[in-house]
Amino acid sequence: MSIATETDLRRIAERGAADLDGASAEDLLRWTEENFGGRYIVASNMQDAVLVHLAAQVRPGVEILFLDTGYHFAETLGMRDASEAVYGVNIRNVTPEQTVAEQDASEGKDLFAREPNRCCALRKVAPLKKTLAGYDAWVTGIRRVEAPTRANAPLISYDEAFGLVKINPLAAWSDDDMQNYIDKHSILVNPLVDEGYPSIGCAPCTMKPAPGSDPRSGRWAGKNKIECGLHST
Ligand code: SF4
Repeated sequence: MSIATETDLRRIAERGAADLDGASAEDLLRWTEENFGGRYIVASNMQDAVLVHLAAQVRPGVEILFLDTGYHFAETLGMRDASEAVYGVNIRNVTPEQTVAEQDASEGKDLFAREPNRCCALRKVAPLKKTLAGYDAWVTGIRRVEAPTRANAPLISYDEAFGLVKINPLAAWSDDDMQNYIDKHSILVNPLVDEGYPSIGCAPCTMKPAPGSDPRSGRWAGKNKIECGLHST
């Protein structure tokens, strides 16, 4: 359970943001461990295990949050299981209130096709919010180059949406930085990346983008939606 007050968390985030401006991913994770050891969780969408590997160096057995929406590709679930086995982390597999079958019964079949925002709210945002209520900080893998909506992602901030400190150690990393780290440490990567999916989410809402187009354009293609609601920064 969270033990810090909102005022404490805001103060820690503010001071951290000032002190660690331009810091490396490793330093940001060490700062996270020093300030929140045992009271933070690292989120991964299992596109690759870069953040998982980095976090496990700082805290062996670190908790990794995986939002198991019930709609993931088999390859993504395989990445989740392989990451736990290879890096010795503890996966916290978070599931929505309802199974896909129960949601189909209560909301109508294939809500994602009709109301993707509601589907994401039920299957991603609500379970995440419930889970994060037990922590003082969360670490995410979002990067500024991924999308215009992420261009100003801070390294450390107070997450207004979920009420805890948010650390984005990879915010300043380029695609080359990611590839160099993957090559240097032989990091696990979701096999779908090599098959042409540069941004991987739930299977019904992920397509291969056209060659040369925005890597995230395959997410919710044609739905006028570019984020699932997990990241406001
Ligand atoms: Fe539903 Fe698609 Fe959102 Fe997954 S990404 S929760 S399937 S709308």
